[in-house]
Amino acid sequence: MLKDSLNEVKKNISEACKRAGRDPKDVTLIAVSKTKPVEMLSEVYNEGVRDFGENYVQELVDKIEIMPKDIRWHMIGHLQRNKVKYLVGKVACIHSVDSIRLAEEINERSVKSGIVTEIMAEVNIAGEESKFGFKRDEVFDFAEKVSVMKGVKLTGLMTSAPYVADPEENRLYFREMKSLSVDINAKNIDNVNITGLSMGMTNDYVVAVEEGATHVRVGTAIFGARNYN
Ligand SMILES: *Cc1c(COP(=O)(O)O)cnc(C)c1O
Repeated sequence: MLKDSLNEVKKNISEACKRAGRDPKDVTLIAVSKTKPVEMLSEVYNEGVRDFGENYVQELVDKIEIMPKDIRWHMIGHLQRNKVKYLVGKVACIHSVDSIRLAEEINERSVKSGIVTEIMAEVNIAGEESKFGFKRDEVFDFAEKVSVMKGVKLTGLMTSAPYVADPEENRLYFREMKSLSVDINAKNIDNVNITGLSMGMTNDYVVAVEEGATHVRVGTAIFGARNYN
């Protein structure tokens, strides 16, 4: 029963909020459903979950077709520019924007469709070689450039912290994300107000919530381990 694992995650989030003096309503739990069948998504949908995260464009588009229309879909995986056209108008937010050229493509497609697409800037906060995302110092320039684009709105920063045995090891990275958001807002760039921090996965979402995450992306703890075969 996914209900039990889901409730466990919700309980952990609300306890972390309590410890940090935060309102649980300020934390959106995104159920990361990549590789999982729609039957499993429906099960957590029926428990009230309306935010789902996916990594692969084709899989995401297929699931959008099948699942109820009131779901907010979050694109969290690496996105190629030539696939942007499949997502614009269909997703609530693209978390994984890691280049100006990608933002430009989302902007152009959105303007053509007469909509504004919500985006986040992916930050490689620990400077890991294997990961996508801006370096800390690059995000300011990105925010400036995006601020003049009519078809995108930068609302947050996203990161995937390192995979560590002890989630406490990632606390400093989550703090750095929070302080980066404060520093960007302090620049008072027109049209940019960073209110979102998309950080924390199965391994470290509790620590992320304690440090200010507004969106946690949890897959395994809800749906179980993924099988990529
Ligand atoms: C797969 C994935 C998640 C969820 O990871 P779990 O460890 O299963 O919770 C979160 N964020 C991103 C970017 C992912 O690719």
